[in-house]
Amino acid sequence: MTTADDETDIIYRLADDCTRDDLDFDRWYLGTVNGVVDYGVFVDLSDAVSGLVHSSNLENDYDVGDEIVVAIEEERQNGDIALDEVAVETQQHRIEEVYHDFDITSITDLTGYVGETVHLQGQVIQIKQTDGPTIFHVNDGNGIIPCTAFVDPGVRAYPEIELDAYVRATGTVERRDESLQVELTDLTIIRDEKQSAVADRINAAISETAEPADVDPLIDWDALDKIYPDLHEVAQMLRRSVLEGRPIRIRHHADGDGMCASVPVYQALRSFINSYHLDEDAHQHLLRRLPSKAPFYEMEDSTRDLSHALEDRQRHGQKLPLLLMLDNGSTEEDTPAYETLRHYDVPIIVVDHHHPDPDAVDPLLEAHVNPYLHGEDYRVTTGMMSVELARMIDPSLTENLEHIPAVAGLADRSSAETMNDYLSLAADAGYEKATLENIGEALDYAAHWLRYNDGGYLIEDVLNLSGNDKQHQELVSLLSDQAQKAVNEQLDVALSHVEHQTLPNGIDLYQIDVDEYARRFEYPAPGKTTGAIHDQKVKENDTPAITIGYGPDFAVLRSDGVRLDIPTMVAELNEEIPGAGISGGGHLVVGSVKFVEGRRDEVLSALVEKMADAEIDEQVGSTTSAM
Ligand code: MN
Repeated sequence: MTTADDETDIIYRLADDCTRDDLDFDRWYLGTVNGVVDYGVFVDLSDAVSGLVHSSNLENDYDVGDEIVVAIEEERQNGDIALDEVAVETQQHRIEEVYHDFDITSITDLTGYVGETVHLQGQVIQIKQTDGPTIFHVNDGNGIIPCTAFVDPGVRAYPEIELDAYVRATGTVERRDESLQVELTDLTIIRDEKQSAVADRINAAISETAEPADVDPLIDWDALDKIYPDLHEVAQMLRRSVLEGRPIRIRHHADGDGMCASVPVYQALRSFINSYHLDEDAHQHLLRRLPSKAPFYEMEDSTRDLSHALEDRQRHGQKLPLLLMLDNGSTEEDTPAYETLRHYDVPIIVVDHHHPDPDAVDPLLEAHVNPYLHGEDYRVTTGMMSVELARMIDPSLTENLEHIPAVAGLADRSSAETMNDYLSLAADAGYEKATLENIGEALDYAAHWLRYNDGGYLIEDVLNLSGNDKQHQELVSLLSDQAQKAVNEQLDVALSHVEHQTLPNGIDLYQIDVDEYARRFEYPAPGKTTGAIHDQKVKENDTPAITIGYGPDFAVLRSDGVRLDIPTMVAELNEEIPGAGISGGGHLVVGSVKFVEGRRDEVLSALVEKMADAEIDEQVGSTTSAM
């Protein structure tokens, strides 16, 4: 018998899953009597650890089920453990739990354990109930792996384990095609101090891996340098989203620049997801690229996105997504859609170069990257920024992306002083200017016919981001030829219907009813048709010019050599003509206006009056910009 000489001594209690390895011979343990015999009592210390207190070492009487404090006398050669009773009042001592010290395997190392039993520690980030097993996706800060558990077909295994729980998972590592999974034999919630320790470790690992790659901009450019810290922050948020198992939805303007912006970021995120998930199909559920026809986030798109996200949460146990808006999303028109998403946990990030309304959108965004917020303008196109963003997420893409900023700049008619730097970067990568223009044209043409479809690998082929150079060349030449032919046919029809007048300020104004005098539902659509007419007229006359292409309830504006401010004009018109339902926007000198059909004539004449007040811009000369 051992007696207590210090009342502050600690009594330890082993957790059920503790083994002999967890025993410390100098400690006192709280056990439970599980058998009483003539020569002593048997005591359980855990499911797997028990021993005998010989009657010579016993002072008190015990029954089965009684608690008893013991010290360890010795571990005999035959493996039996001999215990001593410690005669103390347990309430006068602190009792501390001892947890089994599992040999935890990191998820990154699992490829080396196929067919073996492992213990993992991590957080449950997705629970998917299939018709067969339940699949728990476990994140340990180094990787994410699906762990399967089967009770009966379609029956939820471990119902006590909820999303975000910290767990210890024990099971066998299995390989299915290129993916790994763990078939569970045990899944236990980790609680208390142990839980905070695991959580801290996961968070530290995620914060470290979320740090973007250290890259330098593709070219030297002050304007881009100013924006770089913002892009770095966005790269970090996107990487973190992947590491936390949150899906990402990319919404982008469905034009040349918008695709040059979204495809590289999509590819970078895809490879980052694949590097972190041991399920090779993970990116199919976690990443989506969605084109938007309008130059803002329409309610039709946002309600559809939200509905899909809620369905994914319900059916696949996924977290709600992060929304990344590219080449779109900076204006007041976006706010109703953002407000809708704000009622759910959907963080929104915008990378755009359209003239922004930060007062309207910033309260609704996690991050807003826009050259105008740094005193720069649309010339820094979204494609140029997004290529840098993609490289911060996966720097190994750099070599494939060198021609993309030039395509983006040409497609959006950027007059950046660095266009030549981008063009020579592309030339070094093997792309002539004419080829880059054809890629832009092909993108535009493909986007027109794809409508709401993302065009997946087809668009990757057009941009030459799929690694099939021959396919790329054939496709671009085919699509750009067809596009050019379609534009010429549209111009043949439309040009004879263009009405011309010279405004008192000397500006040439061209107007056409694109609804009446251009082929509808064909390529190019009214916006691009107006642009093509405008370009033709500027080429012929080389004078300051404005072109208005209007339909029953809309007008598309293009201008050259004129100082316009379309967002301000729209705001003024709205006050001057009540009941006309005027809205619109775009860039300063290129944009569109919507109104109700019954007020068209008033809106158009008011618009022309404002044009007559516009100043001629000597500096801009004959350069143009497009949406
Ligand atoms: Mn753009």
